[in-house]
Amino acid sequence: MKNRIFLLPEKGEFYKANLHSHTTISDGRLKPEESKEIYKKHGYQVMAFTDHRIYKNHEDLNDEEFLALAAVEVDINLYDIKPDYERERKERGICPERRYGNFDYINQYLEEMHELGFIACYNHPYWSLQNYDDYKGLKGLFAMEIYNYGCEHDGLYGYNPQSYDEMLRLGNRLWCLATDDNHNSYPFDNPLCDSFGGFTMIKAEELTYSAIMDSIIKGHFYSSMGPEIKELYIEGNELVVKTGPVQKIYVIMDATRCYRKVAMPGETLTGAKFTLDGNENYIRVECKDANGFFANSNAYFLTDIGFGEI
Ligand SMILES: [Zn+2]
Repeated sequence: MKNRIFLLPEKGEFYKANLHSHTTISDGRLKPEESKEIYKKHGYQVMAFTDHRIYKNHEDLNDEEFLALAAVEVDINLYDIKPDYERERKERGICPERRYGNFDYINQYLEEMHELGFIACYNHPYWSLQNYDDYKGLKGLFAMEIYNYGCEHDGLYGYNPQSYDEMLRLGNRLWCLATDDNHNSYPFDNPLCDSFGGFTMIKAEELTYSAIMDSIIKGHFYSSMGPEIKELYIEGNELVVKTGPVQKIYVIMDATRCYRKVAMPGETLTGAKFTLDGNENYIRVECKDANGFFANSNAYFLTDIGFGEI
């Protein structure tokens, strides 16, 4: 058998995560324990509590089937890799001044946060009226939101792959997240309810803080509004994608060209194989189902994953 490069790891299980949520601790309507309960009912195992400008570790919510990630939204989302480190300082407050557009200031702030144990995700640039000039100079982000369900309700600003590609085309190594950013201002049966629309499927060996965080850092996940990406690997020079039922499977790269497989009308695909020529620079897989929902893999730079070396 040819050597395989696993882009999603071969071993482990998928855990469903909402990595952007608000509770009564800031401007959300659900208490943290109510959030946990309803998300658990909907098949989630991981939730990051990213209340505005208030850092909190909700470890009291953890049980065998649920893991709460300590986090905070300071416009950028910060996820805590080391929740036991400098806890008091984090709880006293770690917010930056609001000095957008000042890359030196923000990059230095992100570096300080990194030293405290945080990784940073750039949220909903489309909704925030951000453009290329606002984010092109940012360094040290581990991810960017490609989909934000709350923003989808708010102006149809949810899906924004362009900003992600722009950052990638500058050579930045960063992953992409789909999130809810739920505030729950509407009841669950209202079509404007902002829960359960954007999620991240994290593949990890076990449901522990360190295993889940390790997988998040390494990009062992994909993001979705619904469709599944079951497997993703490269064998020889062939990219293999296995999915749930979708209509389109595309490979986006650092060029206008793309690779694609499209179902006939009324039919569905559950996978595709693409031959890579080595000139893609990076690849990322985008799948679209019959409802118009997308699933997105992370982007992988071929030099980083050792393509062509075996
Ligand atoms: Zn938010």
